[in-house]
Amino acid sequence: MKNIVVIGAGTMGNGIAHTFAQSGFQVKLVDVKPENLDRAVKTITTNLDRIIAKGNLTEEEKANTLGNITTFTDLKDVAGNADLIVEAATENLDLKLRIFAQMDELAPANCILATNTSSISITQIAAATKRPEKVIGMHFMNPVPIMKLVEIIKGYSTSKETFDAIFEMSKQLGKVPTEVNDYPGFVANRILMPMINEAIETLYNGVAGVEEIDTVMKLGMAHPMGPLQLADFIGLDVCLAILNVMYDGFKNPKYAPNPLLVNMVMAGKKGVKSGEGFYDYSESKKAEKVSKMFLK
Ligand code: NAD
Repeated sequence: MKNIVVIGAGTMGNGIAHTFAQSGFQVKLVDVKPENLDRAVKTITTNLDRIIAKGNLTEEEKANTLGNITTFTDLKDVAGNADLIVEAATENLDLKLRIFAQMDELAPANCILATNTSSISITQIAAATKRPEKVIGMHFMNPVPIMKLVEIIKGYSTSKETFDAIFEMSKQLGKVPTEVNDYPGFVANRILMPMINEAIETLYNGVAGVEEIDTVMKLGMAHPMGPLQLADFIGLDVCLAILNVMYDGFKNPKYAPNPLLVNMVMAGKKGVKSGEGFYDYSESKKAEKVSKMFLK
């Protein structure tokens, strides 16, 4: 597999494109919003500079990585010779079903179609295509260039051949692939999201403030980042979408999103990406302080 198409140039898409490109793959990054493509290339450039500053990359390797990435606004222009397409568009079932039907129509028959979805059923997404055996979950963690884990999720129809190819490919990216079956939230979010939701519930009930809740979890449980700050980094809209998928999937009220989370998303407070969530990221210095801490 040489030619990789990444769909979606948001929080995850830019990191996925970066990671493949740094490992020598040709990456075509596609987003319907040209401004998001520009922002993604800027973010990748900044993150490569950070790696250089730590002594882990040369200027030449940075130039090669950036040279391996080209940007597009239409999947039709790039799907024709893709070996692997990784979809990292917005966490929305209808959108993903539409994109997968289009990928299936445009991509060569041997192309593997992967999704970075955090929680949506791989089996359901695969059923939107005529090649369900070639559809798989490739769930990277944020920030992708730094986090080692990739959950490799087998849908009901995913073939062993597809699973083995993606498992091996993840190792080539320097990641640690982990085999997971297809149930709502997989493993990572099934455990993480109830914790984030409970932290929001604790705030909502007035038990403690934002910083106090995060301090308890950082210093008391040795988490590198408190759950409310982590929710800001993931995106509060993404957290809400994942909780709703688990709530619907298990029909269990323990996954019901807290009303404060629902209100914040409706008010456009989505965390780092919108400039405000549980913390204020509007002053550039404050935001920088937080992201540097994350990338340490
Ligand atoms: P995001 O909102 O930051 O970015 C989504 C991008 O998709 C946007 O740039 C949007 O313009 C683009 N997009 C929407 N429709 C499109 C289309 N038809 N074609 C091409 N691009 C389109 O979202 P994100 O946080 O990067 O999440 C992307 C996926 O990754 C979701 O499925 C999410 O659940 C998953 N994920 C997110 C995280 C996280 O920490 N944020 C972690 C793991 C997985």
